[in-house]
Amino acid sequence: MKPAPFAYKKARALEEAVALLGAHKDARLLAGGQSLIATLNMRLSAPALLIDINGIGGLGGIALEDGALEIGALVRHAQAERSDAVGKHAPLIARALPHIGHPAIRNRGTLGGSIAFADPAAELPACLLALGGEVVATGPKDARTIKAENFFKGLFDTALAPDEVLTAIRVPAAGKDSRVGFAELARRHGDYALVGLAASAQADGKGLKDVRLAFFGVGATPVRAGKSEAALAKGDADGAVAALDLVPDDDVQASGAVKKHLAGVLLRRVAKQLMEGGR
Ligand SMILES: Cc1cc2nc3c(=O)[nH]c(=O)nc-3n(C[C@H](O)[C@H](O)[C@H](O)COP(=O)(O)OP(=O)(O)OC[C@H]3O[C@@H](n4cnc5c(N)ncnc54)[C@H](O)[C@@H]3O)c2cc1C
Repeated sequence: MKPAPFAYKKARALEEAVALLGAHKDARLLAGGQSLIATLNMRLSAPALLIDINGIGGLGGIALEDGALEIGALVRHAQAERSDAVGKHAPLIARALPHIGHPAIRNRGTLGGSIAFADPAAELPACLLALGGEVVATGPKDARTIKAENFFKGLFDTALAPDEVLTAIRVPAAGKDSRVGFAELARRHGDYALVGLAASAQADGKGLKDVRLAFFGVGATPVRAGKSEAALAKGDADGAVAALDLVPDDDVQASGAVKKHLAGVLLRRVAKQLMEGGR
């Protein structure tokens, strides 16, 4: 299929993109296009105007600032994959990136696009939640930050206002006691996950504290598993699996019961990574 007709405008500045969003109710930002163009081609969406943000300067950097790693919205998945700063300061994101689609998709797709699109089976929203990160957004009045726990509102729905541009994400930089774990199950490498788990914790003597488990592919948004986090902090992996209170719906890939079983399998793998000092 071909997309419905649309107008196209290349924004040269952030203010211009924000103003265009404010002036056109039925506009959509175009970043890497790896999700948006597919939805247009399938006529799942038909915006009147595409605002291309690829010409806006200052959104493609990766920088360590005040103990946090800031990754610009236009950083491509492939650029982040090759980044030493991401590997060192955000090892969870570095681990998750190779699971996103295929190299051709990672060459164009952006971190900002993935977070803003908020696909429930996507890796990066879960990583942002597991790391306790935040989103930086600019609207007509000012820039604001939104914590990951308040950002993902529902299926493909976020706290971004219609006239806001996501400009960066920020995650706390990993320290010497940081532990991360990541696992997903997909039918083929590069497919969206059936179920996935991104996790972070701090080493606490021989145990763990501040355990954060963010499952994806099991609900409308990435989902924390609080009771399992508490059990893992006590070193009880069996208890963490028993305490899993996810209620995934059936979908075209698997039944809810299968997904719940797979979530337990992933939890055991990730618990091992966290306890064995995965970074
Ligand atoms: C075959 C295939 C397989 C894929 N597999 C995976 C996978 O396994 N895991 C995964 O996570 N993703 C996967 N993707 C999607 C890929 O990661 C996309 O790159 C990503 O979801 C969107 O990023 P983008 O830059 O391409 O955004 P676009 O497609 O340009 O935009 C997506 C949406 O986000 C909005 N948007 C984009 N940037 C901003 C911004 N800065 N501020 C506000 N809104 C913005 C757009 O308006 C649009 O609504 C796959 C894609 C394809 C085609």
